[in-house]
Formats: sequence, structure tokens, C-alpha cells
Amino acid sequence: MSRTLHLAEQLISCPSVTPEDGGCQQIIAARLAPLGFVCETMVSGPDNFRVTNLWAKRTSSRPGAKTLAFAGHTDVVPTGPLDAWTSNPFVPTERNGQLFGRGAADMKSSLAAFVTAIEDFVAAHPNHAGSIALLLTSDEEGDATHGTTLVVESLKARGEVLDYCIVGEPTSVDTLGDMIKNGRRGSLSGKLTVKGIQGHIAYPHLASNPIHLAAPALAELASITWDQGNEMAPHDLVAHLFPEGVFFAYSGCPWQRGTNENSNGLARQYLPRNSDLSVHTDEDLRRIETLLNTRPRKTLGWRTPAEVFTTGLR
Ligand SMILES: [Zn+2]
Repeated sequence: MSRTLHLAEQLISCPSVTPEDGGCQQIIAARLAPLGFVCETMVSGPDNFRVTNLWAKRTSSRPGAKTLAFAGHTDVVPTGPLDAWTSNPFVPTERNGQLFGRGAADMKSSLAAFVTAIEDFVAAHPNHAGSIALLLTSDEEGDATHGTTLVVESLKARGEVLDYCIVGEPTSVDTLGDMIKNGRRGSLSGKLTVKGIQGHIAYPHLASNPIHLAAPALAELASITWDQGNEMAPHDLVAHLFPEGVFFAYSGCPWQRGTNENSNGLARQYLPRNSDLSVHTDEDLRRIETLLNTRPRKTLGWRTPAEVFTTGLR
């Protein structure tokens, strides 16, 4: 059996539903210490939510050495009903050449791979120029307030810098290594209180059913594209260039996007409604774009959109 698989199985055997670490970090620290890692456990969180964090570092003796850190978590999400599992989630089991157990994908196999990769690397390059570190937490699958955030804060406070960081979250689509993601944008959650008015069934017009009120509100929330991706990320870099301010329209409210609507009307002059758009090449569309951008507009004081745009950027 490979050392990575063996270690992954050891880690899966530790029940570590958030915020429990289940002893995973001890196993990892015991592997790293003989390689020259200084292992520091940071326990955090309130009494009813004790989180275990591990900061382990093999510091290079060379001045100004860069630090590569592996970041990850030992906790797993709750198992759900045990009888819905084919095998016990905390008993690693191999079936059809695959490893089953809670955390096999997210992310105990990754943790095992971190460790064995470090062992192999240090054995091959005992005097390499950089420092290697591991930042592990048992609070990633929960609210994640007492985990990585807290460790990063205390590292910052002592002037510890991570130059490079590899996060071992499972990201592949079909096979291992077919995808690398550049960060993740997180999620948004909140509480929605919908208040109704109680009433008698004989007088329904005097009552207000909160379930009926909740459904449209929920549909509206679900219809919003909250994040447009990287396109919008540097928004504040350009926002100050527009003295009128930057306005994000509500979804499903095209009348709030006057320019947009107007542009649609202009585009229609070249691409009439109901015409077959599939016959147009990219080149055709570029040509129409150029015509639109270089056409003087009354609303812009007879300047062209291209002029206004380039002036704005100056
Ligand atoms: Zn994960």
C-alpha cells in the first residue's frame, strides 16, 4: 500500500466532524517533527466549540528564505444517517479501486499527500533554500471563524509571511490534477424573517400568510446573480473615474439600465428584431460595435461613445 493511502486511511479513521480534530493533527505533527518541523497547536473557540489548529514550520537557515505553506482542514461535514452509508464513514474502505470514508475527497487524502510529498522532498533536498509550513484547522466546514482566520491573524501579529500557499481542496472534474483553481469567492448566508398576520379562516382577507409572502421573496433572492466573477472584482479601481457613481441594477428590472436598453435599440438598427443572428460572424459583430462606438450621439453632446470613454479613462 502506498504511504499516502495508508496515511489517508489513518486520518479517515479519526472521527473529526467540525469542530473536532479527532487526533488527525497529532498524527500529522508526529510525521513532521522528525523532519525538523516545529509544531505549534493553537486551540481556539468557545467552550462548546473548541477548535484545534496546527501551525507547523520547517524554517530555512538561509536569510530571506521564502515560505511555501500547505493549507488545509482536518474536519469533515456531518455524516448524515449512518444507515444510508454502504460502509461506516469512519472506517476507510476500498471498493472498486476507490477509497470510501468521510473526508476521503475533502480533504484527508490531500493532507496525506501534503505530508508524504514533504517527506519525499526533504529526503531528496535536505538543504533546500526555502521554508515549508503547514496550516491546518478543524474549523473549515463550519462557520470557520476560529480556524484559519485566527491562525493567520496571529501569524500576521508576529510578522510571519507566507510567500506561496497551496490549498488541498478537491477540485478535479474527472481525473486528479485536471484542474487548478485560483481561489474561491466564498458564500453569503443570512436569515430571512417573514412576518404574517394571524386571522380566522372565514376572514382570509384580514390575515396574511407568511408562507405565501416568503415564496416570491425567495424566488427574487434566488434569481439574483450575486457575483459576476473576476470581471467585477477590481470594481473600486475604476469606480472613482465615474463622477456620477456606479450603479448596479436589480435583476429583472431592465428599466433601471437605461443605457443598456437604449443600446439594445441602437443594435436593432443593424440587427433587426427576429432576424437570424447565427449568420453573423465575429467580424460582422465587431464592425457593428465599431459603428456604434464611433457614432456621434446627441445625448453625449454629439461626441462618440469611444471619445467619452477614453476621456473618462484619462
Ligand atoms: Zn474542504
